[in-house]
Amino acid sequence: MQVQDIEKMLGLQGVSIKSLTYESTGNKNIARVQVEPTCYKQNCPCCQSDNTIKNGISGYRQIHHLPIAGTKLIIQAPRQRLKCKICGATYTYEYAFVSGKERHSKGVKAQIYKMSVGSTVRHCAETMEIPYSTAERFFKESVLKIAALVNTSTQAQVEQSSKLILGIDDFAIRKGHNYNTGIHDLRGESFIGIAKGRTLVELSEYMDKNPRLASLKPHAVVMDLAKVYHMFA
Ligand SMILES: [Zn+2]
Repeated sequence: MQVQDIEKMLGLQGVSIKSLTYESTGNKNIARVQVEPTCYKQNCPCCQSDNTIKNGISGYRQIHHLPIAGTKLIIQAPRQRLKCKICGATYTYEYAFVSGKERHSKGVKAQIYKMSVGSTVRHCAETMEIPYSTAERFFKESVLKIAALVNTSTQAQVEQSSKLILGIDDFAIRKGHNYNTGIHDLRGESFIGIAKGRTLVELSEYMDKNPRLASLKPHAVVMDLAKVYHMFA
């Protein structure tokens, strides 16, 4: 197998593989793949100029990628600094296969999006061998994308539940971003609704658009002390 074939197999765009090390301890197999950008040109975020130069490396990023046949894959990518020759701005090269400063590749995220329908966060975290909090964050991100189509089988299950316990909480996909409200079936450990925002007006609008959700008769509702949520419940 050629290195180019491995690059294709891993589905990492814009980088080439520099080296690959494999370690096996106990029942854990880890492959570390060191990559570097095939092209360092990335337009200046300030003035959009492509007249840029490399400006040193500030360490390496460790990015978890999709495991292959039980082997954990960690991509080691240089934190390549770039400098704009026009406006002098310095910035870090952004890899196509990972968003922002995330520690998991877009491939991992996509996998979680796929799993997020009809699966629990815990199951997802265990299968993907990632921390619960990370899986939960990706999960919520994906649920928000498919918020319009609340899983009908989950909904039916919830409607039939005689002692339904709902959980309501707010969350931000990223720290400092707008808040959303998640409505969960605490027994079934599943999301049954996601409303944009967390004000009473936003929540009422959401309920108007989701009559099936609004018609639920929960046995109990678990929430934090936010007054809005009490009024909403
Ligand atoms: Zn510039």
